[in-house]
Amino acid sequence: MGPASMAPGVLEAMIKAGVNVCRINASHGDHAMHQEAIDMVRKLNEDKKLKVAVLYDLQGPKMRIGDIENNLIHLTEDETLILTIVKCIGTKEKIQIKYPLFHDDVHVGDTVLIDDGKIELQVIAKAEKEEVTAKVIHGGPLSSKKGINLPYTKISLPSLTEKDKEDLEFALKNNVEWIGLSFVRSATDISELKEIIKQNNKTTRVIAKIEKPEAVRDIDNIVKATDAIMVARGDLGVEMAMEKVPVIQKMLVSKAIAASKPVIIATQMMESMILNYRPTRAETNDVANAVFDGADALMLSAETSVGQFPVKVIESMTKIIAMVESESVIYNRHIQPVKHSKSFISDSVCYNSCVMAQQSGAKAIIAMTHSGYTAYRISSQRPDCNIFIFTDNRSILNMLSLVWGVQAFFYNKYESTDNTIKDIKFFLKEKGYLETGDMAINVFSTPLDERGMANTIKLNVIN
Ligand code: PEP
Repeated sequence: MGPASMAPGVLEAMIKAGVNVCRINASHGDHAMHQEAIDMVRKLNEDKKLKVAVLYDLQGPKMRIGDIENNLIHLTEDETLILTIVKCIGTKEKIQIKYPLFHDDVHVGDTVLIDDGKIELQVIAKAEKEEVTAKVIHGGPLSSKKGINLPYTKISLPSLTEKDKEDLEFALKNNVEWIGLSFVRSATDISELKEIIKQNNKTTRVIAKIEKPEAVRDIDNIVKATDAIMVARGDLGVEMAMEKVPVIQKMLVSKAIAASKPVIIATQMMESMILNYRPTRAETNDVANAVFDGADALMLSAETSVGQFPVKVIESMTKIIAMVESESVIYNRHIQPVKHSKSFISDSVCYNSCVMAQQSGAKAIIAMTHSGYTAYRISSQRPDCNIFIFTDNRSILNMLSLVWGVQAFFYNKYESTDNTIKDIKFFLKEKGYLETGDMAINVFSTPLDERGMANTIKLNVIN
């Protein structure tokens, strides 16, 4: 979200063209602007009976430089530059690093990247305190407040900065469905965030943004701790060698699928469409390959926040996704449930409902869930049919919009299994989702009123 998508009528058109989740990046704008964006999404949901989710993306421990003289200097290769933690107006000789522990954390030989790696410096000396001398390895123009990456430095910043804590409070007050955490370094970062959410009596789900080598190293624990992951290719490609990103993307997607957790591919998917009416062939291939890999969601940033074609870019992306999704190869993943695991019964039921859907050519799998777990599990098998999820838990209705293929509905009349199945069938038929003669598979838990884990499958024909 940004000025381009918040222009009158634009967001509605974007949603019609295929948007399921709106990301608000806490790194940009202020709470007043974020509130306006959240209110826009909520109003459209109410007016148009939609279930668009809000993802509030915390900045995390991102470092920035201070202000620059006249907002532009030019750094030249081989020249030296002082990096200081003391507030100053940046010049060709000295710039401020807005991170009090910068001097303590960096070592001689470390690389300092500024502005997405466009500027590269190397630390050549450290003064007693406050100042570090760096050599310009790759120069160029530099303006105020650009971001810094220290790919080989262990940073002491906490995972949630003071700004993040204020932003989190704002997001929780607004009951956003998803919170993104930037620059995750370990699973502990996620559990700390989840603890704060729990203390606030909220059920907001967490997305771990994978953009640091430490996160890649701790990925198994992070996937276990988080509710979803984002392949944040922008910073990942600066923090690590860019050529490693495609391999890491595939590894992250397959780990997320194996754990039945949604995965988002982010950054520069349709970058040229910030200015152009059509994507490049390479971007089209990138988007298509992300779907082939198994992404649940694809994310746009500047393309829709400040780009010139915020609706067109969604239309273009939707066309590419639809084309890939007409290929049978992306469906029926057959991820086996793990024997003796705590969730085996439910996992086996979800898995077998998908096998049954494939065998029978069913038009839909219709499942009941309270936590959303059943929806995650069925979706991750990628059945080649509709996934209709019914829940009495309002807090997960919009949240599920991030999960591939899921359409969620509110339902709280738990009378008897027979009646509920009949009722839901009638509802879906009346709304035009199903027709007489269609096969459908029901996944539910008996006894129904205990709201337990899925333990039953029913294959039936719509009459
Ligand atoms: C990224 O680095 O890919 C990313 C998504 O970061 P940001 O939140 O800064 O857009």
